[in-house]
Amino acid sequence: MKIRSPIVSVLGHVDHGKTTLLDNIRGTAIAHKEAGGITQHIGATEIPIKVIEEICKGLLEKYSIQRIIPGLLFIDTPGHEAFTTLRKRGGSLADLAILIVDINEGFKPQTYEALNILKMYKTPFVVAANKIDKIRGWKAHKNSSFLETFEKQVPKVQQSLETKIYELVGSLHEEGFNAERFDRVTDFTSQVSIVPISALTGEGIPELLTLLIGLAQQYLKDQLTIESDSPAKGTILEVKEEKGLGTTLDAIIYDGVLKQNDKIVLLTLEDVVVTRIRSLLKPKPLEEIRESKTEFKRVKEVVAASGVKIVAPGVKDVIPGSPLRVAKDENLEDIRNEIRKELEEVKIETDKA
Ligand code: GDP
Repeated sequence: MKIRSPIVSVLGHVDHGKTTLLDNIRGTAIAHKEAGGITQHIGATEIPIKVIEEICKGLLEKYSIQRIIPGLLFIDTPGHEAFTTLRKRGGSLADLAILIVDINEGFKPQTYEALNILKMYKTPFVVAANKIDKIRGWKAHKNSSFLETFEKQVPKVQQSLETKIYELVGSLHEEGFNAERFDRVTDFTSQVSIVPISALTGEGIPELLTLLIGLAQQYLKDQLTIESDSPAKGTILEVKEEKGLGTTLDAIIYDGVLKQNDKIVLLTLEDVVVTRIRSLLKPKPLEEIRESKTEFKRVKEVVAASGVKIVAPGVKDVIPGSPLRVAKDENLEDIRNEIRKELEEVKIETDKA
């Protein structure tokens, strides 16, 4: 048994800062080289707990948050389309979400849509109230915690932020959520935390990451406890032609272990496909790509949670968002039937889209 990293997805209205936030988190993590930096995956980025500790500078201790998960695995594609197509049986592939809202604009149509999706999937989430640096008179303190930078603002600016936060609290209330600024939350099971941040200056990101770690460990322990040597379960992100490799599958593995030569069961719109993994690929570090000109390196196996590229014959028509399961000779028929049931669900989703 081991505890895997939670899979995190970022949702929110267009231009409210999803991409900038992911870039900021990745960039900050790369800068923390001594702590091991980021771990690259296909379609996802893992921020190891050691790096999060450094970014959060003492906040994990301050809020008495243990460190039992190995890190956070962020899905690189933000937005609710990715969130809803990337499914696993019984819900979304994402264990946790960040709902990002431009604090100066408030709720917009896609914010409501994203919120409804999170409601439907019952995904725990935090609200990132973004672009605090654009509040009139704001003095930015790069990468500092929110509470530190807030303390250094003049009262008028502080008041302006509070007013905007209460507008968000109001919008969330209308949607049936009891929300508060994170430092005033008294019960994390019934209240949604709002973290004021700037994806541009990095302010508030220490608290945002701290809260995600706290939420995961408090509420998702069962979901994150896996047998690391059991046959893998995953979700297909993308079906892609790669030069020299043919059709490949980008997948996120959320349970068990995936090995070279494993027999895998997949879905096309027609039927179930059974094939064998020829090779498993992970991204190479940037410096190595420059030297060898290939982006990938072969690995023998990957353990959840992980993003990986799979080379296997006969996968051209596999559906993005559909499940991947490893089968052994003795349970192939059972798994085939299980996956076939999911084909009906996927068909319904595809018809709706
Ligand atoms: P997305 O559509 O949600 O992915 O939004 P983007 O990340 O592309 O951001 C849209 C625009 O807002 C870009 O020009 C960003 O530079 C800008 N932006 C995002 N976050 C912030 C922030 O915290 N502060 C400021 N001033 N601009 C931001």
